Amino acid sequence: MSCQLWEKAAEFHGHKCPGLAIGYKVSLLALKHLDIKDNIDDEDIVCIAETDACGVDAVQVILKATVGTGAMRILYTGKQAFNIFNRKNGKKARFVLNDMQNFDTKEERMKYILSTDEEKLFTIKEVKMDFPEKAKIFNSYICAECGEKTAENAVSFINGKYICNSCKG
Ligand SMILES: [Zn+2]
Ligand SMILES: [Zn+2]
Repeated sequence: MSCQLWEKAAEFHGHKCPGLAIGYKVSLLALKHLDIKDNIDDEDIVCIAETDACGVDAVQVILKATVGTGAMRILYTGKQAFNIFNRKNGKKARFVLNDMQNFDTKEERMKYILSTDEEKLFTIKEVKMDFPEKAKIFNSYICAECGEKTAENAVSFINGKYICNSCKG
């Protein structure tokens, strides 16, 4: 089962790498720790990732927390940390990757991650953020400058005109 998930994640990501292995392992740990059942729907699990690296792709595939549904957000802190929320039972946790020994090659690092218990790889901490709201649907406006349709949370009303963030500069 879990081996299949690894293959699925790798297929989506395009290659196998240590970063993807981190995302794979954090997903497995979240499945257990947050009591996530098999039949998850696309908005049940939300992830606020503190990294934008390869691992995020594994979380999108395995926990079905994708950018497209608003269930995957990046709040970059430069840490290998993932805040994961289970909307079904209200459980949440922040998973932070532990310091790891050095390896000569990426291959060795990946093998180590894959063969080590996820409980040993991460420290589970308390989530400081609130439960994110469900994905919102915004109205949109035509920008008076560029004429492009823009969601209302990205436009400003200036001198009686709607101006998009790109034109506002
Ligand atoms: Zn990668
Ligand atoms: Zn514009």
